[in-house]
Amino acid sequence: HFEIYLNNLNELNEKDQFLFVFRDRTEEEAADRLKNEFVSIVSHELRTPLASIMGFVEILLKREVQPAKRIKYLETIHNESIRLSSLITTFLDLQRMESGKQNYIPIPLDLRNVADKVAAQWKNTQTHRIVTDFPDEPCYIKGDTDRIIQVLHNLISNAVKYSPGADLVNLRIRPENGDWVIDIQDYGLGIPDESKDQLFNKFYRVDNSDRRQIGGTGLGLAIVKEMVEGMGGAVSFQSKLGQGSTFSVSFNTFQLVPLSGKIVVVED
Ligand code: ADP
Repeated sequence: HFEIYLNNLNELNEKDQFLFVFRDRTEEEAADRLKNEFVSIVSHELRTPLASIMGFVEILLKREVQPAKRIKYLETIHNESIRLSSLITTFLDLQRMESGKQNYIPIPLDLRNVADKVAAQWKNTQTHRIVTDFPDEPCYIKGDTDRIIQVLHNLISNAVKYSPGADLVNLRIRPENGDWVIDIQDYGLGIPDESKDQLFNKFYRVDNSDRRQIGGTGLGLAIVKEMVEGMGGAVSFQSKLGQGSTFSVSFNTFQLVPLSGKIVVVED
């Protein structure tokens, strides 16, 4: 809808020309909205762990605290610092992706080595065992080690976070139609059917009563999808509410061709 007002119609003559420029702002406005949402979620998510760290540090500075309690407070400070650091990584990942600076050089790598590294990082979670099942042969794909680590980290973190009643997460690598597929399987809350289409959308979170207490930003899976697809792979999932979920990430297999040849020394 628009209206045009002219000051003095009498001064118009036939030769006058007008140029109207219309700009569709739908996309810009959607981007603005996303930015605002981003800022408010970021500040809230960063403030919560920070408030807890500041609170415990203050107690430790001001009061005499018994050794057992002191350790507990320090552990909380440690855990909350890890949470802060991982949140900052998430926000930086998203920022980098949005600004298109997600360049990397794909190199051949053995998926088993990368998955092993991430599984080792999760060995010390107090609640879940990460059980790995990898082929004996090398699983070569082409990609970027740091990004695959981030993808697996996000998926394992979700598997643990959304299975409060379980103690097991399976990490499996298997071949499928010329791809190497890595499955992250949990026995947790599962995903309701009505949420399945939106799960990879930025900021989307399932709003079920079974998980309202579990914190998050709704960015983890959006980052997974962008990173995986940026490396030419694909991500999918299967899930049953109340039974668990399996997220699968697949990449084309990459054949390492052994170099053959000989070195010739030329004397001059
Ligand atoms: P966040 O965990 O920060 O909410 P994600 O983008 O990682 O954001 O996940 C989006 C939503 O998908 C979550 O809110 C959660 O309800 C659901 N979800 C993700 N992974 C799982 C899982 N393994 N099991 C059950 N629900 C999951």
